[in-house]
Amino acid sequence: MQLNFIGNAAQVSSSGQTIPMLDPSDGQVFDHIQRSNAKDIDHAVRAARQCFDTVWGKTPAAERGRLLMRLSMRVAQGVDELTVLEQRDCGKPTRQARADAVALARYFEFYAGACDKLHGDTIPYLDGYSVLTWREPHGVTGHVIPWNYPMQIFGRSIGGSLAAGNACVVKPAEDACLSLIRVAQMAAEVGFPAGALNIVTGYGHEVGDALARHAGIDHISFTGSPSVGTLIQQVAAQRHCPVTLELGGKSPQIVFADADLDAALPAIINAIVQNAGQTCSAGSRLLVEQTIYEPLLERLGAMFENLRAGPASMDLDLGPLIRQSQQQRVWDFLSDAQADSIPMVAKGSVVDEAPETGFYQAPTLLRDVPVQHRLAQQEIFGPVLCAMAFRDEDHAVELANATPFGLVAGVWTADGARQFRMARRLRSGQVFINNYGAGGGVELPFGGVKSSGYGREKGIEALQGFTTLKTVAIKHG
Ligand code: NAD
Repeated sequence: MQLNFIGNAAQVSSSGQTIPMLDPSDGQVFDHIQRSNAKDIDHAVRAARQCFDTVWGKTPAAERGRLLMRLSMRVAQGVDELTVLEQRDCGKPTRQARADAVALARYFEFYAGACDKLHGDTIPYLDGYSVLTWREPHGVTGHVIPWNYPMQIFGRSIGGSLAAGNACVVKPAEDACLSLIRVAQMAAEVGFPAGALNIVTGYGHEVGDALARHAGIDHISFTGSPSVGTLIQQVAAQRHCPVTLELGGKSPQIVFADADLDAALPAIINAIVQNAGQTCSAGSRLLVEQTIYEPLLERLGAMFENLRAGPASMDLDLGPLIRQSQQQRVWDFLSDAQADSIPMVAKGSVVDEAPETGFYQAPTLLRDVPVQHRLAQQEIFGPVLCAMAFRDEDHAVELANATPFGLVAGVWTADGARQFRMARRLRSGQVFINNYGAGGGVELPFGGVKSSGYGREKGIEALQGFTTLKTVAIKHG
């Protein structure tokens, strides 16, 4: 049984209720979390406020950095333990769960070094005046985390916020939160003061909503679906609380005829099968120059047929989807494809060892998907890649920009001038050219445009969002 973590202490929820946790690999209950409510959120916000007012808000930046560095080292030491938790909770193959734990340690390392490098400005003004700006923490920040990359999103969100000097209240997703509870315990172990980092678990419409509504929350960082992002904005708007929204995507991989396909194809596959396609930045649309459309699909199709889904512990190309409703969602999209005669190029397999009670979906490659079809417009959030052909650069840009989203775009071409033209014309928070998010990119600001959200997390840029600017004008004659 997992408990909330408030003020450096394990706490049961005031509701006395719990939520069962299912292992996506076999669909069986393996643990329970607290079904918290508004009272628990209030308790956590008070603990965070107390900490901010008395200790954390007075802790020198260099000391915050040392604590974050200690946490980074503690997480690095606990990578094996966190890998097992994440694997069980999310159904991630071992290598992917491990990569997330390593990335978490890296986030804390990065933000440890950033704490004491957050400077203000001095501004020339009227004679007899001195004007300066201070970057100040908001106070208490709320963080709503999705289930697809719990550790990575937690790392980038609270890493930046703690570095900026805020105390944090975190609401993990009800489907996957064990690793985050464990990391909060590690933070207490390495010396974070009680209340600096609090975890309250439960359902979104109960505890997530209560967090967004709480008057003691000074900033909300939300990562999740566009529809819940809208609700959070509406609630936060009632009290003019600033929000950072990291929402979904329908990211295109754009392949020109001069691309290095040996480099492109494995990256294109990885971008749709990683975490079984349940990735905000999944490269879920494949736009291919007409002249190489047929040979590319033939080659990619052969690669797709070799992909295997299976239990997380088998460490295959992909694990199961997170839950049955997500599996059903993917099936619904695939039945639409069938009903509308969208051709399937290839399908991978689910291994025989996969329990029937697990939530598996074989990777699937579809072709000639009309740009306005819902398969090409909406997040499927499964291992389904939708291919379409383009005539020329203008047509590629038109197709790439023709969804409500704007998170990531991948461009594969050897033509240097075209690389820059494409990067300029794509309406997207990130453009990756001849790569697709290699190296984790902890240092690189990340976020979206259009329905993919606004504000940036990751990198030094995130610290702007986790602080507010105060201008101080002094008349001294
Ligand atoms: P979701 O929106 O269903 O849930 C996200 C979080 O919001 C969960 O913790 C959930 O409990 C909470 N929540 C649900 N209803 C709420 C409410 N009424 N008030 C407050 N909180 C509420 O999303 P999900 O299914 O967990 O995650 C998948 C979505 O997240 C996809 O759309 C994906 O693209 C997006 N995502 C975006 C990024 C990014 O960086 N842009 C990263 C990861 C995931």
